[in-house]
Amino acid sequence: MTAKVLVVEDEEPLALLLQYNLEAEGFRVALANRGDDAEVAIREEPPDLIILDWMLPGLSGIELCRRLRVGKASCSIPILMLTARGGEQDRIRGLTTGADDYVVKPFSVPELMARVRAILRRASPERLANMLEVEDIELDREAYRVRRNGREVRLGPTEFKLLEFMMESPGRVFTRTQLLDGVWGRDVYVDERTVDVHIGRLRKAINRGKEKDPIRTVRGAGYALGEKFPGQSLVE
Ligand code: CA
Repeated sequence: MTAKVLVVEDEEPLALLLQYNLEAEGFRVALANRGDDAEVAIREEPPDLIILDWMLPGLSGIELCRRLRVGKASCSIPILMLTARGGEQDRIRGLTTGADDYVVKPFSVPELMARVRAILRRASPERLANMLEVEDIELDREAYRVRRNGREVRLGPTEFKLLEFMMESPGRVFTRTQLLDGVWGRDVYVDERTVDVHIGRLRKAINRGKEKDPIRTVRGAGYALGEKFPGQSLVE
């Protein structure tokens, strides 16, 4: 069963760009360009996730978020807030209003998609594809199993999550902060060097003998898994 994502955004080019990218990953997508229309649509068919712009005609994203959080049927729908404002005050207000996460415009599409997947992984893991495959590595989320070249690889829970997170965006370079956010969560305070420790353990577990190391260390940037290098353009 695929997850349904409602995109509430009044800037049409951005809404269509999000729709295109979400559909490419197998999500069902509905669009709304006004806050009040979105409220009606959510009542009629609650989505699995809402991507909600802050500034909207009809009803602001913040107000809609607040209303959804007090509604019995809508209080548990995950919300990813889009905001053009980068001020700390606004970010904090967005989160205390009940958004699960936020992305500040301009954002990169791969970054937003990674956040969407991270939220759904927490909220409704059954809606994500079970099998991930990158090069000769297979990860089965349901059976909690990893194989390389058919050989079973035993991983600790953190290494498993780390591998899963990186396998969702093959070739993408993640900074340590992005890995911390995606794997450990934003609320946890962990030193960035912790990432290096767990990457080291992950490498040790997945690489045997003369096998090629699928994890690249990118000097001054972070880590990537797999060979592809997709573009990471910024959108307003
Ligand atoms: Ca807007």
